Amino acid sequence: MKKLKIRDTEEEFNVGKIVCVGRNYVKHAEELGNEVPKFPIIFLKPVSSLIQSGEKIEHPDYSEEMHHEVELVLLIGKDIKNANDNEAEEAIAGYAVGLDMTLRDLQNQFKSKGQPWTLAKVFDASAVVSDFISKDEVDVTKEKIYLKVNEELKQDSTLDKMIFNNIEIIKFISSKMTLEKGDLIFTGTPEGVGKVVKGDKISAGIGDNLRLETEIT
Ligand code: MG
Repeated sequence: MKKLKIRDTEEEFNVGKIVCVGRNYVKHAEELGNEVPKFPIIFLKPVSSLIQSGEKIEHPDYSEEMHHEVELVLLIGKDIKNANDNEAEEAIAGYAVGLDMTLRDLQNQFKSKGQPWTLAKVFDASAVVSDFISKDEVDVTKEKIYLKVNEELKQDSTLDKMIFNNIEIIKFISSKMTLEKGDLIFTGTPEGVGKVVKGDKISAGIGDNLRLETEIT
């Protein structure tokens, strides 16, 4: 069981499922040659894939192309099903910056065969999160989101460019599966994704409040 806390609070959350949104920025959909979706594209990561800022990512030896994807992460604070706008808003307990690390070569192979790309997304340490801050502390919805590899800026956007906002994402997911306290939602990455190799150091952030660091080994 993995546990999370919100910065400066005592309440602990047992992490449940990790729900991820694909193609939530127009320019990222375009850079991978994908259509801009009419509904959020949803996939899952197991809790075993989760690490925190400061821990390292071991590069799987069965992939030649691991990509970074920086994303806003939502922490769900209550159980909800078929949420309306209000319930969706109230269900967000906190925010983090996260990495949805992706084995792009495997993903492309699976996509070309029409097969699920689960194995491109579930390896150990493929989900990285920073500290969480309380939603009541900061409104992050218009903040900058960025990622650097070895101090070079690779991804640089703002959260208001998300195609589906936090409320729309939560409403959509909760209409298909119950969201439970402790679940995480990775809300999709802006353009600028790219390959990382062993030895690379990644830093990423949202605004001035959320920051993470990791290294590929
Ligand atoms: Mg992603």
